[in-house]
Amino acid sequence: MEIRDVDFRGAALKKSQRPREWLPHVAVAGRSNVGKSSLLNWLFGRSLARVAKAPGKTRTLNFYLVNGAYYLVDLPGYGYAKVAKKLQAEWGRELERYISDEERLAGVVTLMDIRHGPTGLDLDLQGLLDEAGLERVVVLTKADKVGRGQRVRMQNEIQHRLGLESRPMAISVRTGEGRRELVRQIDELVSQWCHRQLGD
Ligand code: GDP
Repeated sequence: MEIRDVDFRGAALKKSQRPREWLPHVAVAGRSNVGKSSLLNWLFGRSLARVAKAPGKTRTLNFYLVNGAYYLVDLPGYGYAKVAKKLQAEWGRELERYISDEERLAGVVTLMDIRHGPTGLDLDLQGLLDEAGLERVVVLTKADKVGRGQRVRMQNEIQHRLGLESRPMAISVRTGEGRRELVRQIDELVSQWCHRQLGD
């Protein structure tokens, strides 16, 4: 369903600060600078998520209610080099906690820059998702920055490295490519979660 209506419903660090309604969450994760804020604003059709934030600020989980039906959750970007190790560890723990204990989490959209592929931290996140048995959609960002040949090569390489069933999708907020497919995949995660709830 097209994203018609988006409402920022707050930021959380602790579990008790997360929204209370029993609605599915689809989280969006990636390392700093991968294009996460740009992607969220592009999906929302307006600037709600900040682009290129000042580094080193406290990072929270940000909750956006979409069409009154599900939450898109902006997870803290990881791996910003200039941030102290201690803070990085703290975010890592929050991220890990959310991924492993949030029953409303329907799946995670994981972002990787199409030019670089998965880094060590990206692979750590994939490992966490595997452990938690979570659905994922792997999205390669900034597709406009590479030519056709490199794009297909990266898609194949990342599919192989992450053991995905199909090639990861490529998107570009510059050209608009991939938006409809991404919205479709998010809808799919939401409807699978709803079906599981009915089955319980
Ligand atoms: P975040 O740290 O993951 O939230 O990344 P941002 O959304 O702040 O984006 C980081 C940089 O990448 C910014 O300069 C964006 O303009 C740029 N960027 C994001 N998406 C795209 C894209 O699809 N194409 C191109 N060429 N640049 C992008």
